[in-house]
Amino acid sequence: MTELMNLNTPSESEQIDTNFKNSQTCLKKVGIIGAGPAGLATAIALKKQGIEVHIYDQAREFKPIGAGLTLSPNGLRSLAAIAPDVVEQLKRQGSQIKQFKVRTSKRGWTLITQSMTGDEYDQPFMAVRWFCLQEILRSQLPPDNLHLNHRLIAFEQNHQSVTLRFENDEATTVDLLIGADGIRSAVRKQLFGVEKPTYSGWMTWRGVLKYQHRLLPPHQATVFANRGKIFLLLDNGDGHISWSLEMLSETSHRSKNAKEVKERAIQELAKWHPVVQEIIDLTDANIVVERPVGNPLILPKWSNNRITLVGDAAHYMGPHLGQGTNTTFEDAWVLSACLSNYGNLEEALGYYEKNRIERTTIVQYRTLFSAAQMFNPFIRPKRFFNRSFGIVPEQAKIGQKAFSDWLYQYNLSLPINHHEK
Ligand SMILES: Cc1cc2nc3c(=O)[nH]c(=O)nc-3n(C[C@H](O)[C@H](O)[C@H](O)COP(=O)(O)OP(=O)(O)OC[C@H]3O[C@@H](n4cnc5c(N)ncnc54)[C@H](O)[C@@H]3O)c2cc1C
Repeated sequence: MTELMNLNTPSESEQIDTNFKNSQTCLKKVGIIGAGPAGLATAIALKKQGIEVHIYDQAREFKPIGAGLTLSPNGLRSLAAIAPDVVEQLKRQGSQIKQFKVRTSKRGWTLITQSMTGDEYDQPFMAVRWFCLQEILRSQLPPDNLHLNHRLIAFEQNHQSVTLRFENDEATTVDLLIGADGIRSAVRKQLFGVEKPTYSGWMTWRGVLKYQHRLLPPHQATVFANRGKIFLLLDNGDGHISWSLEMLSETSHRSKNAKEVKERAIQELAKWHPVVQEIIDLTDANIVVERPVGNPLILPKWSNNRITLVGDAAHYMGPHLGQGTNTTFEDAWVLSACLSNYGNLEEALGYYEKNRIERTTIVQYRTLFSAAQMFNPFIRPKRFFNRSFGIVPEQAKIGQKAFSDWLYQYNLSLPINHHEK
């Protein structure tokens, strides 16, 4: 179910200073591949250290695609450490999620109501449109440093630099290359020979629209559930709601066009509550995204000399725990803190990996458990992992409340040696 890659990691023990200083690693120019949440957040953090950062993305334009994302206290805390004004803007434009409700699929009867105020944490739980998040992050960077229509096809590195080659025949040389190029990362593929993850057996469809209904009050996350199918609705703020259908499917067969994508979602939810059907019906077919969910990709190493990975490229995980983007913001903050604190690039990237891989591996395993909970909400983590897996980090097996505290109270003081916590 997980893909464990066989590479190596360094080890060290030290506390690092969390106040940003000018980078000590003498990086003048950094190239980031990918203008998703990982690339943009990392670029903002490095720019604040006075580093010249360029982002290259294969997209021809920034289009209002994507649906909604959940942001949790750990992700928001990391982002606030990078750029507090970004988090303030997100809070104004997104929606704070205060209640979580589970309803039956056909009649919409309430099964579970849970408060999610986030009072025990210093940041809330939020939902925001993916495009809105991208726009807010983008606005922090000089437009001239964002290069669209630049698909990375190869790189070469030596002791001093890395040369990037793009499909449009352009090339550039940087001091550090950061692969923030997502699930099918070209940087990861050339660095470690690791392709995209294998299919997990789950398919997803996502959309966003302006919609109001008495069953979907502001500040609420609502799930309509039936065995093997979950329809999640999130208030995204500003009258928008986002929806996602996650369901088990034997094949990862993709529909041929936008019309077929929407029709499939409608068909899968036939006979569900009228609200569910109306929402899909009203969604513009051109913005519905259909994607297979991959198995978590667990790499024991993210860096090689002047190249490293962040976000989905480093630790892809499925959507079931809502941690893809949140752990990505943790990466961005830790990587920039390490580059700021250590004079030697190899040392900085070693600390970054050491600090992040242990935590993201735990979150990746726990995401698998969250998927299993969709079928059996009463299943215990220890029982689940002991039955179906080999060696799993003990932290992934702990009870729900203890795990939530560990996840959401992520400590930005960064003890490098986790045994010293
Ligand atoms: C268009 C889009 C919409 C999304 N919408 C949602 C959503 O609605 N809800 C949700 O929960 N998650 C969504 N996601 C996924 C979510 O953003 C990520 O899982 C998570 O935030 C991690 O972000 P990331 O920056 O690591 O990867 P991504 O967000 O996947 O970003 C990777 C970026 O790298 C670029 N790229 C890839 N290969 C190359 C290459 N060879 N050269 C140059 N550029 C390259 C891609 O164009 C993309 O912009 C979306 C992702 C994308 C790309």
